[in-house]
Amino acid sequence: MQTFSFKLADLSCASLPDNKGESDLKSIFPAATEAELGTALTEKLEVGFNCLYIRQGKTNILVDTGTGEGQLLAALAQLGLEAKDIDFVILTHGDRDHIGGVLEFPRARLIMSEKMLESWTDAEKQEQMVDEFIKLFQNKIAQEALASREQERRHFAQALLPQIKSRIQTVAFENEFLPGFKLIDASGHRTDHTALEISSEDQTLIHVVDSIRHPVQITYHWASFIDSYPDMVVETNKRLVERILAKDALIFGAHLPFPGLARLSRETSGLEWHWVK
Ligand SMILES: [Zn+2]
Repeated sequence: MQTFSFKLADLSCASLPDNKGESDLKSIFPAATEAELGTALTEKLEVGFNCLYIRQGKTNILVDTGTGEGQLLAALAQLGLEAKDIDFVILTHGDRDHIGGVLEFPRARLIMSEKMLESWTDAEKQEQMVDEFIKLFQNKIAQEALASREQERRHFAQALLPQIKSRIQTVAFENEFLPGFKLIDASGHRTDHTALEISSEDQTLIHVVDSIRHPVQITYHWASFIDSYPDMVVETNKRLVERILAKDALIFGAHLPFPGLARLSRETSGLEWHWVK
């Protein structure tokens, strides 16, 4: 079990892998072609399932909770922490790989955007999300499989909600809810999808969550096959990239290869992506 610890000014942070997968760019980005990417199109690449841990003073903060069946608790144990030590869990959206482990953290106050709670509680919005998602796919069999997966996702979030509702604290976008912590509206992957900005002294980290899955998205502005609203993803990503550049922010991504950290710079030749390892 590997974890990756790093500092953001006076904050102690760690990337904690809940899981690890494998895919290729052709599968992830339906719009990608061999003319653009060459052999990289079908090369195997690592897909991370990274959770972010931050210690601020004596406060332990976790962003997302993994599936509940992965390695997150073992990764926390590597830092000498147990689930009961976590004071705040920030939830970024209602997908199972992000909220599945939430019941493991009995003491934590659960932070989510007002919009996220609204989209969890509004049945019409949930149905609309499923429909939009299905429209992405032409193949009927794939449509049915995806529809049932989206239904399952919706039911999972709805079944979970009554169990955690009393511990949820909703937060408005761009309002500081812990010193230096702000939620960013990052709709597109899902209607409830939320990114996060963390600042300490002169340093900033932007957790893009599921918005950016691979550096090719900086050049080509593609949405992934799993994004419910591809057009929105493209607009959201442009906003996030501008924000990252303006703040010279460290990037953290849930599905970037472990540890999920990178930097972006503007060169005369264009934007350049630098992995941080
Ligand atoms: Zn995800």
